[in-house]
Amino acid sequence: MADKVLTAFAPALPAPIPVRDVLPWAIFAGLLLVLAIYFVGAEQGATSLISGMYVHEFVHDGRHLLGFPCH
Ligand SMILES: [Zn+2]
Repeated sequence: MADKVLTAFAPALPAPIPVRDVLPWAIFAGLLLVLAIYFVGAEQGATSLISGMYVHEFVHDGRHLLGFPCH
């Protein structure tokens, strides 16, 4: 009985995650972040990849929130 009580209150130790397992997800998240920053900050005018104003209008509030120049 005393062993079960001690086990129940034992501190949980974090399991180490090897960098090799995290690196692909970190690279993927970095690519998504760069893509998001491009669409919020530079998808407009001469640098626009997608014609029309749909992307610009979709990210317009985020552009102003992050302080990118707009209008
Ligand atoms: Zn604006």
